[in-house]
Amino acid sequence: MQTMLMNIAENLRAVAARIDAAAQRAGRSVRLVAVSKTKPAADIAQLAALGQRAFGENYVQEALGKQRELLLKGTGVVRPRLNQLRPLIEWHMIGPLQSNKAREVAQHFDWLQTLDRARLIAPLNRLRPEDAPPLNVLIQVNIDDEASKSGCAPDAIEVLAAAVAAAPRLTLRGLMAIPAPADHARRAHAFARMRELYESLRASHPRIDTLSMGMSDDFELAIAAGATLVRVGSALFGARE
Ligand SMILES: *Cc1c(COP(=O)(O)O)cnc(C)c1O
Repeated sequence: MQTMLMNIAENLRAVAARIDAAAQRAGRSVRLVAVSKTKPAADIAQLAALGQRAFGENYVQEALGKQRELLLKGTGVVRPRLNQLRPLIEWHMIGPLQSNKAREVAQHFDWLQTLDRARLIAPLNRLRPEDAPPLNVLIQVNIDDEASKSGCAPDAIEVLAAAVAAAPRLTLRGLMAIPAPADHARRAHAFARMRELYESLRASHPRIDTLSMGMSDDFELAIAAGATLVRVGSALFGARE
């Protein structure tokens, strides 16, 4: 690929077409979250102007900087406050959440995809502004990476889910995972296990609707296995430094 000529509008069309084809094969609709970490606000504005709605960021301060920049530039794609009905961008926090950032996430994001411990639930619930819709929450599961500190153990999902569901300012939407880099077969196995965990959670929480898994390298595999939401960065914006 010619990096110099990388055209993110073209990339969006190509990725969206691949997602649609995989979703059709799977018989399910699939959402795209464009992962914009390390990329400039101008790239977000460009994709948002083309109709891309959901953006994922890993670092709270970086995300807030871009939100401010988009607001100041008057691009029309960012709301001054979450309650204002100019939906346009939906912000997803997809990085590990430190306790001291709970306030910013509660105030400035629409989704938190990385909830993995119970003690974040009360602060998020308390700090979510009254005039904003409830914060959408995915529980991050450490599916196969023993070394990673992110994500809860599979057997901790039910207890966490019950606590999120009981918090009035949070809405439990489902599960998220970042399988460790591995060969095709091992990744497929991790995705299949996530699908099982998701289906079993759905038995006790029938309204959940989101299984977030799959990135630039493996989103088609993830969709075939059951993903309803994929998080794609480099295939849209080009490689990160
Ligand atoms: C960076 C990141 C992505 C996107 O990765 P790409 O390989 O660039 O598509 C997806 N999910 C999470 C949690 C990430 O940190």
